Amino acid sequence: PASTVIAFYMGHDEGGLGGRRVDWRTVGGGSISYVRKAIAAIGPDIRTGEPVTGVRQEADGVVVTTAAGSERFDYAVIGAHADEALAMLDNPTERQRTVLGTVRYNSSDVVLHTDDSVMPATRERWEAWNYGKVSADGRSRTYVAYYMNKLHGFTAEQDYFVTLDYPREIRPETVIARFPYTHPIIDNQVRELQKDIYDVNEGTRVKLCGSYFHSRKLGWDQIGSHEAGFSSGAEAARRLLDELDGRDA
Ligand SMILES: Cc1cc2nc3c(=O)[nH]c(=O)nc-3n(C[C@H](O)[C@H](O)[C@H](O)COP(=O)(O)OP(=O)(O)OC[C@H]3O[C@@H](n4cnc5c(N)ncnc54)[C@H](O)[C@@H]3O)c2cc1C
Repeated sequence: PASTVIAFYMGHDEGGLGGRRVDWRTVGGGSISYVRKAIAAIGPDIRTGEPVTGVRQEADGVVVTTAAGSERFDYAVIGAHADEALAMLDNPTERQRTVLGTVRYNSSDVVLHTDDSVMPATRERWEAWNYGKVSADGRSRTYVAYYMNKLHGFTAEQDYFVTLDYPREIRPETVIARFPYTHPIIDNQVRELQKDIYDVNEGTRVKLCGSYFHSRKLGWDQIGSHEAGFSSGAEAARRLLDELDGRDA
């Protein structure tokens, strides 16, 4: 909806948090610092590269299945995209099915590369976020290019770029990595859903979270942001701990 687009730009201009001249505080060493801290806190129980193929909810626990077999837990939190979470659940509740089945996703071809032809011709105009328009396949197409050196304050002499859905070919020898990312489409149905989306976790052994929720602090989320993912994850953990303590049982 137009309101989503308008809200996005209002959120990123001078009046919104994104554009506000504030003294930003950043994590020293970048986000990998808190990832390392979380890994150290969780310890050897952490398992990567072992996709979950099934999650069965039972009255007194949850059975999680991967290629390595099935394991029983008291509770589970699924922090995947809505469609991925729905595919994992063997027996979703009616509410889980409605919530997870409503959110549609859009996929983007994301490329990390060093081809500066995606950037404005004049170097002075290079910003951290750049919007471009080129003609391809006989029509005018738009794309986004992040200038990583400016975005992340790199000191490297080499320029690095990340493009989303660049409609032309990026010189293959400049491509470092390619990622197929999907992003929730915040349409009117999702906006409607977000009014009481947190109810989905009431009394269930499987708690859901992710950027298709919204941040309670910021109100309805307009873009499927980091804040929505963080805030819903923290709330899922809080609710689970409350239920374990019997406070909310
Ligand atoms: C290029 C780009 C730029 C962005 N810029 C911004 C920005 O500036 N500001 C902002 O607020 N947001 C931004 N976003 C959006 C934001 O990054 C995402 O919305 C957010 O990271 C999504 O968080 P999530 O936890 O819901 O999902 P993800 O971070 O996608 O995490 C889901 C996880 O689930 C795992 N998973 C999936 N299936 C399974 C399975 N079967 N078993 C085990 N694990 C599984 C995946 O591997 C993944 O690690 C951007 C997104 C992109 C792609």
